[in-house]
Amino acid sequence: MPEHADVLVVGAGPTGLAVAAELALAGIGAVVLDALPERSGQSKALALQPRSAELLDARGWLDPLRPHVHALLPRGHFAGLPLDYSVLETPFPHQIGVEQARIEEVLEQRIAEAGSPVRWAHACTAVRQSADGVAATVETPTGATEITADYLVAADGAHSAVRRALGVPFPGRAARMRMAVADITLARKPSGLADEWAPPQFGGGGFGYLLPLGDGVYRVLFGGEEQQALDRTVPVTAAEVQRALEAVHGGDVAVAAVRWGSRFSDASRQVERYRHGRVLLAGDAAHIHLPAGGQGLNLGLQDAFNLGWKLAAAVRGYGSESLLDTYHDERHPVAARVLVNTRAQGVLTIPDTDLLALREVVGDLLTEPDANRRIAMEVSGLGIRNPVLGAAPHPLLGARLPAALAAEAAGPLRSGRAVLIGPEPLGEAAAPWRGRVEHVPSAARAGLLARPDGYICWAAAGPYDAAGLDAALARWFGRPDTEAAMYRRNEIREEPIR
Ligand SMILES: Cc1cc2nc3c(=O)[nH]c(=O)nc-3n(C[C@H](O)[C@H](O)[C@H](O)COP(=O)(O)OP(=O)(O)OC[C@H]3O[C@@H](n4cnc5c(N)ncnc54)[C@H](O)[C@@H]3O)c2cc1C
Repeated sequence: MPEHADVLVVGAGPTGLAVAAELALAGIGAVVLDALPERSGQSKALALQPRSAELLDARGWLDPLRPHVHALLPRGHFAGLPLDYSVLETPFPHQIGVEQARIEEVLEQRIAEAGSPVRWAHACTAVRQSADGVAATVETPTGATEITADYLVAADGAHSAVRRALGVPFPGRAARMRMAVADITLARKPSGLADEWAPPQFGGGGFGYLLPLGDGVYRVLFGGEEQQALDRTVPVTAAEVQRALEAVHGGDVAVAAVRWGSRFSDASRQVERYRHGRVLLAGDAAHIHLPAGGQGLNLGLQDAFNLGWKLAAAVRGYGSESLLDTYHDERHPVAARVLVNTRAQGVLTIPDTDLLALREVVGDLLTEPDANRRIAMEVSGLGIRNPVLGAAPHPLLGARLPAALAAEAAGPLRSGRAVLIGPEPLGEAAAPWRGRVEHVPSAARAGLLARPDGYICWAAAGPYDAAGLDAALARWFGRPDTEAAMYRRNEIREEPIR
Protein backbone atom coordinates (compact mmCIF):
# COMPACT_ATOMS: atom_id res chain seq x y z
CA MET A 1 0.00 0.00 0.00
CA PRO A 2 1.42 3.45 -0.84
CA GLU A 3 1.84 5.94 1.98
CA HIS A 4 -1.19 8.22 2.32
CA ALA A 5 -1.18 11.86 3.45
CA ASP A 6 -4.02 14.28 4.07
CA VAL A 7 -2.01 16.87 2.16
CA LEU A 8 1.15 16.40 0.11
CA VAL A 9 3.17 19.60 -0.29
CA VAL A 10 5.68 19.48 -3.16
CA GLY A 11 8.43 22.05 -2.62
CA ALA A 12 9.94 23.32 0.64
CA GLY A 13 10.55 26.90 -0.43
CA PRO A 14 8.83 29.68 1.50
CA THR A 15 5.43 28.94 -0.06
CA GLY A 16 5.34 25.19 0.61
CA LEU A 17 6.74 25.60 4.11
CA ALA A 18 4.16 28.26 4.97
CA VAL A 19 1.28 26.07 3.73
CA ALA A 20 2.61 23.19 5.83
CA ALA A 21 3.05 25.46 8.88
CA GLU A 22 -0.55 26.67 8.54
CA LEU A 23 -1.76 23.07 8.28
CA ALA A 24 0.33 22.12 11.32
CA LEU A 25 -1.41 24.89 13.25
CA ALA A 26 -4.71 23.16 12.46
CA GLY A 27 -3.24 19.86 13.68
CA ILE A 28 -2.70 18.45 10.18
CA GLY A 29 0.72 16.98 9.49
CA ALA A 30 1.31 17.42 5.77
CA VAL A 31 4.00 15.42 3.99
CA VAL A 32 6.47 18.01 2.62
CA LEU A 33 8.93 17.00 -0.12
CA ASP A 34 11.84 18.79 -1.71
CA ALA A 35 14.08 17.62 -4.54
CA LEU A 36 17.18 19.29 -3.07
CA PRO A 37 19.46 17.13 -0.90
CA GLU A 38 19.19 19.76 1.86
CA ARG A 39 18.24 23.41 2.35
CA SER A 40 20.51 25.44 0.09
CA GLY A 41 20.82 28.36 2.52
CA GLN A 42 20.66 30.69 -0.48
CA SER A 43 18.44 33.74 -0.47
CA LYS A 44 17.03 35.17 -3.64
CA ALA A 45 14.70 37.43 -1.65
CA LEU A 46 16.04 39.82 0.96
CA ALA A 47 12.95 41.66 2.15
CA LEU A 48 9.55 41.11 3.71
CA GLN A 49 6.67 43.42 2.84
CA PRO A 50 4.36 44.87 5.55
CA ARG A 51 1.40 42.52 4.93
CA SER A 52 3.59 39.41 5.11
CA ALA A 53 5.13 40.78 8.31
CA GLU A 54 1.63 41.23 9.79
CA LEU A 55 0.67 37.66 8.90
CA LEU A 56 3.88 36.12 10.24
CA ASP A 57 3.56 38.22 13.38
CA ALA A 58 -0.05 37.11 13.90
CA ARG A 59 1.22 33.52 14.16
CA GLY A 60 4.23 34.38 16.34
CA TRP A 61 6.66 33.54 13.51
CA LEU A 62 8.14 37.01 13.14
CA ASP A 63 9.81 37.08 16.56
CA PRO A 64 12.35 34.32 15.72
CA LEU A 65 13.34 36.34 12.65
CA ARG A 66 14.10 39.52 14.60
CA PRO A 67 17.74 38.62 15.46
CA HIS A 68 18.40 38.16 11.73
CA VAL A 69 16.90 41.46 10.58
CA HIS A 70 19.49 43.60 8.76
CA ALA A 71 17.37 46.73 8.52
CA LEU A 72 13.89 48.18 8.88
CA LEU A 73 13.55 50.46 5.87
CA PRO A 74 10.77 53.05 6.07
CA ARG A 75 10.31 52.76 2.34
CA GLY A 76 9.55 50.34 -0.44
CA HIS A 77 10.32 50.99 -4.05
CA PHE A 78 8.78 50.91 -7.50
CA ALA A 79 11.47 50.25 -10.11
CA GLY A 80 13.91 51.79 -7.64
CA LEU A 81 11.76 54.93 -7.17
CA PRO A 82 11.13 55.35 -3.44
CA LEU A 83 7.73 54.66 -1.89
CA ASP A 84 7.13 56.22 1.51
CA TYR A 85 5.85 53.43 3.79
CA SER A 86 5.76 55.62 6.89
CA VAL A 87 2.22 56.73 5.91
CA LEU A 88 0.84 53.16 6.02
CA GLU A 89 -1.39 52.21 8.96
CA THR A 90 0.35 49.06 10.10
CA PRO A 91 2.63 48.03 12.97
CA PHE A 92 5.22 47.33 10.22
CA PRO A 93 5.43 50.44 8.03
CA HIS A 94 8.69 49.28 6.47
CA GLN A 95 10.37 46.64 4.38
CA ILE A 96 12.01 44.22 6.76
CA GLY A 97 15.46 43.37 5.48
CA VAL A 98 15.78 39.67 6.19
CA GLU A 99 17.10 36.88 4.03
CA GLN A 100 14.74 34.34 2.46
CA ALA A 101 16.82 31.51 3.98
CA ARG A 102 16.08 32.79 7.51
CA ILE A 103 12.33 32.84 6.80
CA GLU A 104 12.54 29.30 5.45
CA GLU A 105 14.46 28.13 8.53
CA VAL A 106 11.80 29.49 10.90
CA LEU A 107 8.96 27.86 8.97
CA GLU A 108 10.85 24.59 8.58
CA GLN A 109 11.51 24.46 12.30
CA ARG A 110 7.83 25.10 12.97
CA ILE A 111 6.71 22.09 10.92
CA ALA A 112 9.50 19.89 12.28
CA GLU A 113 8.33 20.73 15.82
CA ALA A 114 4.81 19.77 14.78
CA GLY A 115 6.13 16.35 13.75
CA SER A 116 6.33 16.54 9.95
CA PRO A 117 9.91 17.43 8.98
CA VAL A 118 10.76 18.14 5.34
CA ARG A 119 11.79 15.09 3.36
CA TRP A 120 14.82 16.31 1.45
CA ALA A 121 16.11 14.53 -1.67
CA HIS A 122 12.53 13.57 -2.56
CA ALA A 123 11.65 14.73 -6.07
CA CYS A 124 8.11 14.52 -7.36
CA THR A 125 8.31 13.23 -10.93
CA ALA A 126 4.71 12.39 -11.85
CA VAL A 127 1.21 13.16 -10.62
CA ARG A 128 -2.19 11.71 -11.44
CA GLN A 129 -5.50 12.41 -9.83
CA SER A 130 -9.04 11.09 -9.67
CA ALA A 131 -12.17 12.46 -8.06
CA ASP A 132 -11.12 10.79 -4.78
CA GLY A 133 -7.45 11.65 -4.46
CA VAL A 134 -4.03 12.38 -5.89
CA ALA A 135 -1.07 10.03 -6.41
CA ALA A 136 2.50 11.31 -6.78
CA THR A 137 5.52 9.38 -7.95
CA VAL A 138 8.50 10.40 -5.85
CA GLU A 139 12.18 9.70 -6.50
CA THR A 140 13.95 9.13 -3.18
CA PRO A 141 17.57 8.18 -2.36
CA THR A 142 16.36 4.58 -2.01
CA GLY A 143 14.31 4.45 -5.21
CA ALA A 144 10.95 5.49 -6.58
CA THR A 145 7.86 5.37 -4.39
CA GLU A 146 4.25 6.50 -4.57
CA ILE A 147 2.50 8.78 -2.09
CA THR A 148 -1.24 9.27 -2.25
CA ALA A 149 -3.03 12.23 -0.74
CA ASP A 150 -6.42 13.88 -0.41
CA TYR A 151 -4.90 17.12 -1.71
CA LEU A 152 -1.59 18.12 -3.28
CA VAL A 153 -0.08 21.61 -3.08
CA ALA A 154 2.29 22.37 -5.97
CA ALA A 155 4.78 24.79 -4.41
CA ASP A 156 7.69 23.58 -6.51
CA GLY A 157 8.68 26.89 -7.98
CA ALA A 158 8.85 28.49 -11.39
CA HIS A 159 9.72 25.28 -13.26
CA SER A 160 7.06 23.26 -11.39
CA ALA A 161 7.20 19.55 -12.21
CA VAL A 162 3.63 19.16 -10.91
CA ARG A 163 2.37 21.86 -13.26
CA ARG A 164 4.06 20.12 -16.18
CA ALA A 165 2.91 16.64 -15.10
CA LEU A 166 -0.70 17.83 -15.11
CA GLY A 167 -0.25 19.64 -18.43
CA VAL A 168 -1.33 22.94 -16.87
CA PRO A 169 -0.43 25.77 -19.30
CA PHE A 170 1.68 28.68 -18.00
CA PRO A 171 0.65 31.50 -20.32
CA GLY A 172 2.30 34.89 -20.39
CA ARG A 173 5.28 36.67 -21.84
CA ALA A 174 8.66 35.04 -22.41
CA ALA A 175 11.86 36.59 -21.03
CA ARG A 176 13.14 39.75 -22.70
CA MET A 177 15.86 40.59 -20.17
CA ARG A 178 18.15 38.02 -18.62
CA MET A 179 20.02 38.83 -15.44
CA ALA A 180 22.24 37.21 -12.85
CA VAL A 181 22.35 37.43 -9.07
CA ALA A 182 25.32 36.39 -6.95
CA ASP A 183 26.62 36.72 -3.43
CA ILE A 184 30.32 37.49 -3.61
CA THR A 185 33.31 38.50 -1.54
CA LEU A 186 35.59 41.30 -2.73
CA ALA A 187 39.38 41.45 -2.82
CA ARG A 188 39.12 45.18 -3.59
CA LYS A 189 36.10 47.24 -2.63
CA PRO A 190 35.09 50.17 -4.87
CA SER A 191 35.80 53.49 -3.16
CA GLY A 192 32.63 55.17 -2.00
CA LEU A 193 30.65 51.94 -1.68
CA ALA A 194 28.27 52.45 1.27
CA ASP A 195 28.29 49.83 3.99
CA GLU A 196 24.65 50.45 4.78
CA TRP A 197 22.36 47.47 4.18
CA ALA A 198 19.60 47.94 1.64
CA PRO A 199 17.53 45.50 -0.39
CA PRO A 200 18.41 45.16 -4.07
CA GLN A 201 16.66 47.71 -6.22
CA PHE A 202 16.18 47.91 -9.93
CA GLY A 203 16.35 51.32 -11.50
CA GLY A 204 18.57 53.87 -13.17
CA GLY A 205 19.80 51.00 -15.32
CA GLY A 206 19.77 48.69 -12.31
CA PHE A 207 22.75 46.71 -13.50
CA GLY A 208 25.98 46.11 -11.68
CA TYR A 209 24.16 46.85 -8.44
CA LEU A 210 26.31 45.95 -5.42
CA LEU A 211 25.15 45.96 -1.84
CA PRO A 212 26.64 44.81 1.43
CA LEU A 213 24.98 41.88 3.26
CA GLY A 214 27.43 41.89 6.18
CA ASP A 215 30.41 39.68 7.08
CA GLY A 216 32.21 40.83 3.93
CA VAL A 217 29.55 39.38 1.62
CA TYR A 218 28.02 41.51 -1.13
CA ARG A 219 24.94 40.92 -3.26
CA VAL A 220 25.37 41.77 -6.91
CA LEU A 221 22.65 41.97 -9.55
CA PHE A 222 23.60 42.50 -13.16
CA GLY A 223 22.29 41.98 -16.66
CA GLY A 224 24.29 43.22 -19.61
CA GLU A 225 24.73 41.97 -23.15
CA GLU A 226 26.77 38.95 -22.03
CA GLN A 227 23.94 37.63 -19.84
CA GLN A 228 21.35 37.77 -22.64
CA ALA A 229 23.07 34.86 -24.40
CA LEU A 230 23.50 32.62 -21.33
CA ASP A 231 21.11 29.79 -20.46
CA ARG A 232 19.84 29.71 -16.86
CA THR A 233 21.80 26.52 -16.19
CA VAL A 234 25.19 28.16 -16.93
CA PRO A 235 26.96 28.78 -13.59
CA VAL A 236 27.72 32.39 -12.60
CA THR A 237 31.53 32.71 -12.41
CA ALA A 238 33.81 35.19 -10.63
CA ALA A 239 35.17 36.31 -14.02
CA GLU A 240 31.65 37.07 -15.26
CA VAL A 241 30.83 39.08 -12.11
CA GLN A 242 34.18 40.89 -12.39
CA ARG A 243 33.36 41.97 -15.98
CA ALA A 244 29.89 43.18 -14.93
CA LEU A 245 31.25 45.19 -11.99
CA GLU A 246 34.07 46.68 -14.02
CA ALA A 247 31.46 48.04 -16.44
CA VAL A 248 30.13 50.12 -13.55
CA HIS A 249 33.12 50.66 -11.25
CA GLY A 250 36.04 50.48 -13.71
CA GLY A 251 39.20 48.93 -12.31
CA ASP A 252 38.23 50.02 -8.80
CA VAL A 253 36.86 46.58 -7.86
CA ALA A 254 38.16 43.01 -7.62
CA VAL A 255 35.96 39.95 -7.01
CA ALA A 256 37.50 37.37 -4.66
CA ALA A 257 34.92 34.58 -4.84
CA VAL A 258 31.31 33.77 -5.74
CA ARG A 259 29.43 32.22 -2.80
CA TRP A 260 26.44 31.31 -4.96
CA GLY A 261 24.93 32.60 -8.14
CA SER A 262 21.79 32.17 -10.13
CA ARG A 263 20.14 33.51 -13.27
CA PHE A 264 16.70 35.05 -13.60
CA SER A 265 14.67 36.97 -16.12
CA ASP A 266 11.70 39.23 -16.57
CA ALA A 267 9.47 36.41 -17.89
CA SER A 268 5.93 37.15 -16.77
CA ARG A 269 3.52 34.21 -16.54
CA GLN A 270 0.54 33.04 -14.52
CA VAL A 271 -1.54 29.87 -14.59
CA GLU A 272 -5.17 30.47 -15.53
CA ARG A 273 -6.57 28.42 -12.63
CA TYR A 274 -4.93 27.90 -9.24
CA ARG A 275 -7.10 24.86 -8.52
CA HIS A 276 -7.08 21.75 -10.67
CA GLY A 277 -9.33 19.29 -8.87
CA ARG A 278 -7.38 18.23 -5.81
CA VAL A 279 -4.19 20.01 -6.84
CA LEU A 280 -3.63 23.60 -5.77
CA LEU A 281 -0.82 25.67 -7.31
CA ALA A 282 0.88 28.29 -5.15
CA GLY A 283 3.85 30.65 -5.17
CA ASP A 284 6.22 30.71 -8.15
CA ALA A 285 4.59 27.52 -9.47
CA ALA A 286 1.51 29.67 -10.15
CA HIS A 287 3.07 33.03 -11.10
CA ILE A 288 6.45 34.42 -12.12
CA HIS A 289 7.57 37.96 -12.87
CA LEU A 290 10.55 40.30 -12.67
CA PRO A 291 11.55 40.43 -8.98
CA ALA A 292 11.03 44.19 -8.88
CA GLY A 293 9.69 45.88 -5.78
CA GLY A 294 10.34 42.73 -3.71
CA GLN A 295 7.01 40.96 -4.17
CA GLY A 296 7.48 37.31 -5.27
CA LEU A 297 8.24 35.64 -1.96
CA ASN A 298 5.60 37.81 -0.33
CA LEU A 299 2.99 36.72 -2.87
CA GLY A 300 3.88 33.07 -2.21
CA LEU A 301 3.64 33.50 1.56
CA GLN A 302 0.27 35.17 1.22
CA ASP A 303 -0.97 32.45 -1.15
CA ALA A 304 -0.06 30.04 1.66
CA PHE A 305 -1.88 31.99 4.38
CA ASN A 306 -4.96 32.17 2.14
CA LEU A 307 -4.88 28.47 1.26
CA GLY A 308 -3.77 26.81 4.51
CA TRP A 309 -6.93 27.23 6.62
CA LYS A 310 -9.18 26.44 3.66
CA LEU A 311 -7.31 23.17 2.99
CA ALA A 312 -7.46 22.35 6.70
CA ALA A 313 -11.25 22.86 6.60
CA ALA A 314 -11.49 20.57 3.55
CA VAL A 315 -9.40 17.87 5.25
CA ARG A 316 -11.47 18.15 8.44
CA GLY A 317 -14.59 17.71 6.34
CA TYR A 318 -16.35 20.99 7.08
CA GLY A 319 -14.89 23.12 4.30
CA SER A 320 -17.06 23.30 1.22
CA GLU A 321 -15.89 22.96 -2.37
CA SER A 322 -16.78 26.59 -2.90
CA LEU A 323 -14.57 27.61 0.04
CA LEU A 324 -11.58 25.93 -1.62
CA ASP A 325 -12.47 27.66 -4.89
CA THR A 326 -12.16 31.05 -3.20
CA TYR A 327 -8.38 30.43 -3.05
CA HIS A 328 -8.24 30.96 -6.82
CA ASP A 329 -10.88 33.69 -6.82
CA GLU A 330 -9.00 35.73 -4.23
CA ARG A 331 -5.36 35.11 -5.03
CA HIS A 332 -5.35 35.02 -8.85
CA PRO A 333 -6.31 38.71 -9.24
CA VAL A 334 -3.67 39.75 -6.67
CA ALA A 335 -0.82 38.10 -8.59
CA ALA A 336 -2.27 39.28 -11.93
CA ARG A 337 -1.92 42.82 -10.65
CA VAL A 338 1.67 42.14 -9.51
CA LEU A 339 2.44 40.89 -13.02
CA VAL A 340 1.14 44.22 -14.35
CA ASN A 341 3.13 46.33 -11.89
CA THR A 342 6.34 44.35 -12.41
CA ARG A 343 6.05 44.62 -16.20
CA ALA A 344 5.63 48.37 -15.75
CA GLN A 345 8.67 48.40 -13.45
CA GLY A 346 10.64 46.45 -16.05
CA VAL A 347 9.97 49.14 -18.64
CA LEU A 348 11.03 51.84 -16.17
CA THR A 349 14.39 50.15 -15.61
CA ILE A 350 15.48 49.99 -19.26
CA PRO A 351 18.35 52.49 -19.64
CA ASP A 352 16.96 54.33 -22.66
CA THR A 353 16.99 58.14 -22.54
CA ASP A 354 13.27 58.51 -23.25
CA LEU A 355 12.43 55.89 -20.66
CA LEU A 356 14.65 57.70 -18.19
CA ALA A 357 12.46 60.74 -18.88
CA LEU A 358 9.34 58.66 -18.15
CA ARG A 359 11.06 57.47 -15.00
CA GLU A 360 11.59 61.05 -13.91
CA VAL A 361 7.91 61.83 -14.48
CA VAL A 362 6.74 58.73 -12.58
CA GLY A 363 9.24 59.51 -9.79
CA ASP A 364 7.76 63.02 -9.49
CA LEU A 365 4.23 61.59 -9.42
CA LEU A 366 5.15 59.20 -6.62
CA THR A 367 6.10 62.13 -4.38
CA GLU A 368 2.38 63.07 -4.42
CA PRO A 369 0.82 61.60 -1.25
CA ASP A 370 -2.17 60.02 -3.03
CA ALA A 371 -0.02 58.41 -5.73
CA ASN A 372 2.48 57.21 -3.13
CA ARG A 373 -0.29 55.70 -1.00
CA ARG A 374 -1.95 53.98 -3.96
CA ILE A 375 1.25 52.24 -5.14
CA ALA A 376 2.63 51.66 -1.62
CA MET A 377 -0.62 49.90 -0.64
CA GLU A 378 -0.23 47.67 -3.69
CA VAL A 379 3.45 46.76 -3.34
CA SER A 380 3.22 46.33 0.45
CA GLY A 381 0.27 43.93 0.11
CA LEU A 382 -1.81 46.04 2.51
CA GLY A 383 -4.30 47.10 -0.15
CA ILE A 384 -5.66 43.60 -0.83
CA ARG A 385 -9.44 43.51 -0.88
CA ASN A 386 -11.00 40.06 -1.29
CA PRO A 387 -14.35 39.89 -3.03
CA VAL A 388 -17.05 38.85 -0.50
CA LEU A 389 -20.09 37.88 -2.50
CA GLY A 390 -23.54 37.58 -0.96
CA ALA A 391 -22.79 39.90 1.97
CA ALA A 392 -24.26 43.30 2.75
CA PRO A 393 -21.80 46.01 1.67
CA HIS A 394 -19.55 47.46 4.36
CA PRO A 395 -16.38 49.55 4.02
CA LEU A 396 -14.28 46.91 5.83
CA LEU A 397 -15.64 43.84 4.05
CA GLY A 398 -12.87 41.89 2.31
CA ALA A 399 -10.13 44.04 3.82
CA ARG A 400 -7.65 42.90 6.45
CA LEU A 401 -8.46 43.57 10.11
CA PRO A 402 -7.17 47.05 10.95
CA ALA A 403 -4.06 46.83 13.15
CA ALA A 404 -5.83 47.81 16.40
CA LEU A 405 -8.47 45.09 15.93
CA ALA A 406 -5.85 42.53 14.91
CA ALA A 407 -4.16 43.27 18.25
CA GLU A 408 -7.45 42.62 20.10
CA ALA A 409 -7.83 39.36 18.17
CA ALA A 410 -4.22 38.29 18.71
CA GLY A 411 -5.04 35.15 20.75
CA PRO A 412 -7.35 33.42 18.25
CA LEU A 413 -5.28 34.52 15.26
CA ARG A 414 -2.12 33.10 16.79
CA SER A 415 -3.75 29.69 16.98
CA GLY A 416 -5.08 29.98 13.42
CA ARG A 417 -8.73 30.41 14.36
CA ALA A 418 -11.28 32.82 12.93
CA VAL A 419 -12.43 35.59 15.21
CA LEU A 420 -15.73 37.30 15.87
CA ILE A 421 -15.21 40.66 17.54
CA GLY A 422 -18.25 42.39 18.99
CA PRO A 423 -20.74 42.66 21.86
CA GLU A 424 -21.51 39.69 24.09
CA PRO A 425 -24.73 38.42 22.41
CA LEU A 426 -22.77 37.74 19.23
CA GLY A 427 -20.76 35.20 21.20
CA GLU A 428 -23.89 33.08 21.55
CA ALA A 429 -24.44 33.20 17.81
CA ALA A 430 -20.91 31.91 17.25
CA ALA A 431 -21.09 29.18 19.92
CA PRO A 432 -21.94 26.36 17.47
CA TRP A 433 -18.64 27.07 15.68
CA ARG A 434 -16.54 26.93 18.84
CA GLY A 435 -13.12 25.52 17.97
CA ARG A 436 -13.24 27.14 14.54
CA VAL A 437 -14.35 30.64 15.51
CA GLU A 438 -13.51 32.44 18.74
CA HIS A 439 -15.53 35.32 20.11
CA VAL A 440 -13.60 38.33 21.38
CA PRO A 441 -16.07 40.41 23.42
CA SER A 442 -16.00 44.09 22.68
CA ALA A 443 -18.91 46.20 23.89
CA ALA A 444 -17.61 49.19 22.00
CA ARG A 445 -17.67 47.65 18.53
CA ALA A 446 -20.25 46.52 16.03
CA GLY A 447 -19.58 42.92 15.04
CA LEU A 448 -16.80 41.92 12.66
CA LEU A 449 -15.99 38.38 11.57
CA ALA A 450 -12.42 37.78 10.41
CA ARG A 451 -11.03 34.61 8.89
CA PRO A 452 -7.87 32.92 10.20
CA ASP A 453 -5.85 34.91 7.64
CA GLY A 454 -7.21 38.14 9.10
CA TYR A 455 -9.54 39.16 6.25
CA ILE A 456 -13.01 40.38 7.22
CA CYS A 457 -15.83 38.23 5.82
CA TRP A 458 -18.84 39.70 7.68
CA ALA A 459 -19.43 43.10 9.20
CA ALA A 460 -22.45 44.32 11.16
CA ALA A 461 -24.33 47.36 9.97
CA GLY A 462 -24.81 48.63 13.53
CA PRO A 463 -23.88 47.99 17.20
CA TYR A 464 -26.10 44.94 17.95
CA ASP A 465 -26.87 43.90 14.41
CA ALA A 466 -26.38 40.19 13.67
CA ALA A 467 -28.15 40.03 10.31
CA GLY A 468 -26.47 37.54 8.05
CA LEU A 469 -24.04 36.35 10.74
CA ASP A 470 -25.26 32.73 10.84
CA ALA A 471 -25.12 32.54 7.07
CA ALA A 472 -21.60 33.99 7.00
CA LEU A 473 -20.39 31.61 9.72
CA ALA A 474 -21.82 28.64 7.84
CA ARG A 475 -20.47 29.82 4.50
CA TRP A 476 -16.92 30.33 5.67
CA PHE A 477 -16.61 27.82 8.52
CA GLY A 478 -18.99 25.05 7.48
CA ARG A 479 -21.99 23.45 9.05
CA PRO A 480 -21.39 23.13 12.76
CA ASP A 481 -21.49 19.66 14.25
CA THR A 482 -21.03 20.59 17.89
CA GLU A 483 -23.59 20.02 20.62
CA ALA A 484 -24.22 23.75 20.75
CA ALA A 485 -25.52 23.51 17.22
CA MET A 486 -27.98 20.71 17.91
CA TYR A 487 -30.85 22.92 18.94
CA ARG A 488 -30.26 25.31 16.05
CA ARG A 489 -29.31 22.76 13.42
CA ASN A 490 -32.33 23.33 11.22
CA GLU A 491 -31.93 27.07 11.35
CA ILE A 492 -28.36 27.10 10.06
CA ARG A 493 -28.05 26.68 6.33
CA GLU A 494 -24.72 26.21 4.66
CA GLU A 495 -24.76 28.13 1.40
CA PRO A 496 -22.08 28.13 -1.27
CA ILE A 497 -19.84 31.17 -1.23
CA ARG A 498 -20.67 32.04 -4.83
C1 LIG B 1 17.27 37.90 -7.78
C2 LIG B 1 15.96 37.70 -7.09
C3 LIG B 1 15.64 38.54 -6.03
C4 LIG B 1 14.41 38.38 -5.40
N1 LIG B 1 14.08 39.23 -4.37
C5 LIG B 1 12.87 39.15 -3.81
C6 LIG B 1 12.51 40.03 -2.73
O1 LIG B 1 13.28 40.88 -2.28
N2 LIG B 1 11.26 39.90 -2.20
C7 LIG B 1 10.39 38.98 -2.65
O2 LIG B 1 9.26 38.93 -2.14
N3 LIG B 1 10.72 38.09 -3.62
C8 LIG B 1 11.93 38.16 -4.21
N4 LIG B 1 12.28 37.26 -5.17
C9 LIG B 1 11.33 36.19 -5.55
C10 LIG B 1 11.35 35.02 -4.55
O3 LIG B 1 12.66 34.58 -4.32
C11 LIG B 1 10.48 33.88 -5.07
O4 LIG B 1 9.24 34.41 -5.47
C12 LIG B 1 10.29 32.79 -4.01
O5 LIG B 1 11.46 32.05 -3.81
C13 LIG B 1 9.17 31.83 -4.41
O6 LIG B 1 9.01 30.87 -3.40
P1 LIG B 1 8.37 29.45 -3.72
O7 LIG B 1 8.38 28.70 -2.44
O8 LIG B 1 7.08 29.64 -4.42
O9 LIG B 1 9.35 28.78 -4.79
P2 LIG B 1 10.89 28.39 -4.62
O10 LIG B 1 11.56 29.30 -3.66
O11 LIG B 1 11.43 28.28 -5.98
O12 LIG B 1 10.85 26.95 -3.93
C14 LIG B 1 10.45 25.81 -4.68
C15 LIG B 1 11.03 24.57 -4.02
O13 LIG B 1 10.53 23.44 -4.72
C16 LIG B 1 11.58 22.50 -4.86
N5 LIG B 1 11.29 21.64 -6.02
C17 LIG B 1 11.38 21.96 -7.33
N6 LIG B 1 11.00 20.92 -8.08
C18 LIG B 1 10.67 19.92 -7.24
C19 LIG B 1 10.20 18.59 -7.41
N7 LIG B 1 10.00 18.07 -8.64
N8 LIG B 1 9.95 17.83 -6.33
C20 LIG B 1 10.15 18.32 -5.07
N9 LIG B 1 10.61 19.58 -4.86
C21 LIG B 1 10.85 20.36 -5.92
C22 LIG B 1 12.83 23.35 -5.05
O14 LIG B 1 14.00 22.63 -4.72
C23 LIG B 1 12.55 24.50 -4.10
O15 LIG B 1 13.09 24.27 -2.81
C24 LIG B 1 13.51 37.36 -5.82
C25 LIG B 1 13.87 36.50 -6.87
C26 LIG B 1 15.08 36.68 -7.49
C27 LIG B 1 15.44 35.76 -8.63
